[in-house]
Amino acid sequence: MTQTFLLLPGDGIGPEVTEQARRVLDVVAPDLKFSEALFGGASYDEHGLPLTDEVLNQARQSDAILMGAVGGPKWAGVARHLRPEMGLLKLRKELDVYANLRPAFCFPALADASSLKREFVEGLDIMIVRELTSGVYFGEPRGIDDLGNGERKGYDNACYTSSEVRRVARVAFEIAKGRKGKGGLYPGVTSTDKSNVMESGVLWREEVIKLHQEEFANEPLDHILADAMAMQLVKKPKDVNVILADNLFGDILSDEASQLTGSIGMLPSAALGEPGTPGLYEPVHGSAPDIAGKGLANPCAAILSAEMALRWSLDRADAADRIWNAVGKALEDGARTADLGGSMSTSQMGDAIIAAL
Ligand code: ATP
Ligand code: MG
Repeated sequence: MTQTFLLLPGDGIGPEVTEQARRVLDVVAPDLKFSEALFGGASYDEHGLPLTDEVLNQARQSDAILMGAVGGPKWAGVARHLRPEMGLLKLRKELDVYANLRPAFCFPALADASSLKREFVEGLDIMIVRELTSGVYFGEPRGIDDLGNGERKGYDNACYTSSEVRRVARVAFEIAKGRKGKGGLYPGVTSTDKSNVMESGVLWREEVIKLHQEEFANEPLDHILADAMAMQLVKKPKDVNVILADNLFGDILSDEASQLTGSIGMLPSAALGEPGTPGLYEPVHGSAPDIAGKGLANPCAAILSAEMALRWSLDRADAADRIWNAVGKALEDGARTADLGGSMSTSQMGDAIIAAL
């Protein structure tokens, strides 16, 4: 059956980098049926909305979606609920993509660009599985109350239900099954929480333990406090394989881990929902208004996001492996955009990866 792939290039460098991802996909998966739609600021300019119902329906009917980037200073004055970023939040919510996969890897050719010494990051390969649609970012009640006499109270509510924890933990265990042999001290899933001081953390840990016993008893599982994981990541990151984290801790730990890897221009991400529903793929970086339109952006994060789409939504691991190897080969041969200390343009970097294919 034909698989459909929706491109949402978006704003800033989004269109530049997704174009290169599209070129690479054309080589490794020429039978994919592509469509493209406006999203973010580009959609706001045309329709007055960052995400139209038509595009949302198109996304629901696709097998995978690759987003470039949204937002930029051009839309800073737009009403808050119409900002490009709100389109992305709505798309995530509507697709119910609750598991955010944020790999942190370091290609050997880039090991000297890390914030840590080469020996600590060469061959680094961590997968962070972050819960994306619940937790303290969404919990109710939340607000800012006036207590009188100029005193105010701001509050959020960190809460998880057992099914919310179980479904994202299941994704982490499934992923760990395919990543045996990575990590050292923490060879399987390492679940992070603050169960020493938070009730939602106690529930998180209990549910992960229950699910593990019921469905994944033969897989290694560790639990460490989120603050201890933050230390581990800068102390000996190669000891870690799969990190499972809630929305807040996953946000922080994945940004921390990204700095071990050389450049933000290298890192892809995936957001997955229930099996059989479309996954949403996007580079970790934003719209980079400072370099947009100049042909300077590194397209690797977008190309590797397409690689993740082939692997996780389209069941084409062979094609994904080809992309992964071609990126590694191009880097070994010295291909570099400016963020990696080189002088190649966005399309030249795309050329180098296609040549390596
Ligand atoms: P957002 O709020 O959309 O996440 P941001 O301000 O956090 O945006 P980015 O847009 O990711 O950040 O840009 C941060 C810095 O990284 C900028 O200097 C940008 O030029 C650089 N950058 C981001 N992506 C790339 C890329 N693909 N190639 C090269 N440089 C990049
Ligand atoms: Mg950002």
